[in-house]
Amino acid sequence: MFGLIGHSTSMEHAQKAAAQLGYPEYHEQELDFWCSAPPQIVDDIKVTSVTGNTIDGKYIESFFLPEMLTQRRIKAAVRKILNAMAHAQKANIDITALGGFSSIVFENFSLQNNRQVRNVELDFRRFTTGNTHTAYIICRQLELASAQIGINLSQLKVAVCGATGDIGSGVCRWLSEKTSIQELLLVARNQERLHTLQSELGRGKILPMEEALSQADIVVWVASLPKGVEINPETMKKPSLVIDGGYPKNFDARIQNPEVFVLKGGIVEHSLDIEWTMMDMANMDVPNRQLFACFAEAMLLEFEKWYTNFSWGRNQITVAKMEQIGEASQKHGFSPLLLKEAVTAAR
Ligand code: NDP
Repeated sequence: MFGLIGHSTSMEHAQKAAAQLGYPEYHEQELDFWCSAPPQIVDDIKVTSVTGNTIDGKYIESFFLPEMLTQRRIKAAVRKILNAMAHAQKANIDITALGGFSSIVFENFSLQNNRQVRNVELDFRRFTTGNTHTAYIICRQLELASAQIGINLSQLKVAVCGATGDIGSGVCRWLSEKTSIQELLLVARNQERLHTLQSELGRGKILPMEEALSQADIVVWVASLPKGVEINPETMKKPSLVIDGGYPKNFDARIQNPEVFVLKGGIVEHSLDIEWTMMDMANMDVPNRQLFACFAEAMLLEFEKWYTNFSWGRNQITVAKMEQIGEASQKHGFSPLLLKEAVTAAR
């Protein structure tokens, strides 16, 4: 059995989701309430692979909210993630994905040192960040969507915002090793980590965000921001492609320019309907088939019976592992979300 640990993108989103899930009394609740809510299994899931194999899973709502980070409720944030992991383990789930900010909280607050959660000793092999599959899917989106809008990778500059992060560094390795892109622009705040990445890759130009955004033909957005950023599309190249891999999404609704194409990054579409209700609340166009690539990673590990923390720690994502999970992804019927035909036809 696989598990998915998820959370809402904001308090407003959580309030709406609570009403939809049949907890109308939660609708008016403020942050204090969410800080004390215990994790709950809120969905039973069935997924069938195109190979014919069917697996079962559970969705665990951690009740973590990004506002816990922006309002410095760090102890609550940490408790949410550890409690959700312990809940998954107690439910005997073999492999669970730490969705969205769960793995970021885990890493940033060194939760590997907090193995004991009351009477549960966490077995980290039962968890995966799902970041290898996410990095793979973002790279495939970049390769396929640039072809959709007719831009040739070998003449392009690609900016990776969040380049030194777990997903970002995996994306940079793939782009360097497997594509012919003309130039790689590296964006993050910590200069030392940027220089370390640059020497590992043997390439890449370090730029401040504004400059990178104005020079790039393709922007891969994988910076861990708990809320969106204001980007002026007028300063961006035309045409350009933005692959927004952030959760919560940083761009989508903001950029409105016919020559700036925004694609939801790190999202896959399954070939068959998935039996679940949770994705109705995740703002997907096709909720029965579209999902976060990190969640799909837990499903792939279950299909393949690879009961191991396939993606773990930070900056360990190799091209070989991206290829391995990518093969499993295709085998079981997942494909990267691409631009809608109507968008590309308008060109
Ligand atoms: P990490 O914490 O590993 O990396 C975050 C990166 O963003 C670092 O390079 C960091 O560098 C950079 N960053 C953070 N804040 C800023 C800022 N203000 N300006 C510029 N750079 C910044 O995160 P992950 O790689 O694990 O995740 C990245 C994103 O992907 C998150 O939004 C996450 O929620 C999302 N995600 C999506 C998934 C999906 O399935 N679609 C799955 C998992 C995650 P520095 O601190 O030096 O600035």
